[in-house]
Amino acid sequence: MTQTESIPTFGLYINGEWSAASSGATETLYNPANGTPVAVTARATVADVDRAVAAARHSFDNGSWSDVRHTERARIIEAIADLLEEHTDELAELETLNGGTTLRKSSWLDIPVGIEHLRYFGELARQHPMRPLPFIDFPMASSNAMWREPIGVCAQIIPWNYPFLMAIWKIGPALAAGNSVILKPASLTPVSALRMAEIIHESKLLPPGVFNLLTGAGSTVGEHLIAHPGVDKIAFTGSTDVGRHIAAVAGRNLKRVTLELGGKSPVVVLPNADLDIAVDGAIWAAFMHSGQSCEAGTRLLLPDSLHDEFVDRMVARVEQLVLGDPMDLTTDLGPLVSAAQKRAVDQYILLGLEEGATLRCGGNAEEPELASGHFVRPTIFTDVNNKMRIAQEEIFGPVLCVIRYHTVGEAITIANDTSYGLAASVWSRDLNEAQEVAHAIRAGTVWINDHHLINAKAPFGGYKDSGIGRELGPQALEAYTEVKHIHTDLTQERTRRIWVDVVAPQLDASFTEMAEM
Ligand code: NAP
Ligand code: MG
Repeated sequence: MTQTESIPTFGLYINGEWSAASSGATETLYNPANGTPVAVTARATVADVDRAVAAARHSFDNGSWSDVRHTERARIIEAIADLLEEHTDELAELETLNGGTTLRKSSWLDIPVGIEHLRYFGELARQHPMRPLPFIDFPMASSNAMWREPIGVCAQIIPWNYPFLMAIWKIGPALAAGNSVILKPASLTPVSALRMAEIIHESKLLPPGVFNLLTGAGSTVGEHLIAHPGVDKIAFTGSTDVGRHIAAVAGRNLKRVTLELGGKSPVVVLPNADLDIAVDGAIWAAFMHSGQSCEAGTRLLLPDSLHDEFVDRMVARVEQLVLGDPMDLTTDLGPLVSAAQKRAVDQYILLGLEEGATLRCGGNAEEPELASGHFVRPTIFTDVNNKMRIAQEEIFGPVLCVIRYHTVGEAITIANDTSYGLAASVWSRDLNEAQEVAHAIRAGTVWINDHHLINAKAPFGGYKDSGIGRELGPQALEAYTEVKHIHTDLTQERTRRIWVDVVAPQLDASFTEMAEM
């Protein structure tokens, strides 16, 4: 990082070295809360992508990381986590300045949780080594072993909403399994991942080429990466449209692919829910990070018996939320990430009105002091029908759709009436009933009396249009490994016996002699 006019300037990280883009092109990033410049990044070209893939390929093919003993890989990943932890305050500030999440959240959640998850991936490398799972097949007199081996070069493309956490979810399991990686952060929010790359670089803990980072447009850097013959696996988190495109390109080239895409997650409040807990739970589910979370609970399903009181209490609580400078520790919600994202959310709020939903609170933030940032007030629509576009499309902003239901069976039908299946939550004092509903919902994660809380030890990912594959948990390591079976004939002559004695008797001299007699 060099300082230009007091803002940091970052290059591309390729083969253990920092360099400018081959074209020299750069991009200036601006604080979404007030429009001031935050950092300058490099805009990689396809030539830079080729350079990064060659470096990753070389490091993988040389075994400089993949051949390192799994306990040593674990030690190094944990040492990187320790170093990142020493930089928690700095990383949290960068996360807030670049992406607009509040400093409270980045300091106490985004960065520490990311570091905790990286430690888990270190632990996975140690506890789930690529060791053989042996069995001896006695009738066949063979020994059989199953090995998990790294896939190779992984292109990892991440979105703007949780830049540090998403970077960790990608590089953590890939490195734990022994792969080489090329990380491409979102153009809007690459700063915390770039700073992480600097910390990794200074530590000299990873051999050159094992971890590379490219900034630049998805339409050039991303496109070139996903079709590159030197890339073995693509891991993507982002929009469902780009995910479909990546799956198609990966399919043509038979590359391994995992996708973590959008969501329209239901929050199902059952009739005997504790209102105090469920009202705050529903607010947290919908508005944490101003709704810019793939797992956000954006469809709130309320029974007739609770609907009116629930909505009144929720609106009163939401109106107390303070929008403002995310660096200020008294702020509850910061701005959206960009002017384009705010425009898209504003359009959905207009659409909701056109579709006949009732706007109970929210919309544009009118305060003059918020005019220079991309602020949208937490917005609640009631009288929403699940067929409306605001109930079906991912808005990725602070817009909650309240849908009324009559029976629990109907609630389940509405919850599942979506193309997505990433997450859901169920709120009830009756844990048995909540479990039944949780089983009936077609989604990768269902929380009961909780939402958003992600445990590194449990798999995370989507059903249906929400993706393919899982991140976190032991499944994360599986997603970065190939399975190899090694069969050893302990008799050393079995194949010959089967071939000659059973299948091709003409090759057996004694058989031929017998037939001639
Ligand atoms: P996106 O377009 O899917 O971008 C995600 C990542 O993919 C970024 O790094 C992007 O690079 C890259 N990319 C874009 N086009 C690509 C291509 N053709 N080939 C390869 N990589 C490509 O998402 P977005 O534009 O940031 O956000 C759009 C919408 O996606 C949001 O409004 C939201 O609905 C959804 N979203 C979902 C999640 C999630 O976690 N599920 C996260 C973020 C956004 P650039 O940044 O350079 O374009
Ligand atoms: Mg995009």
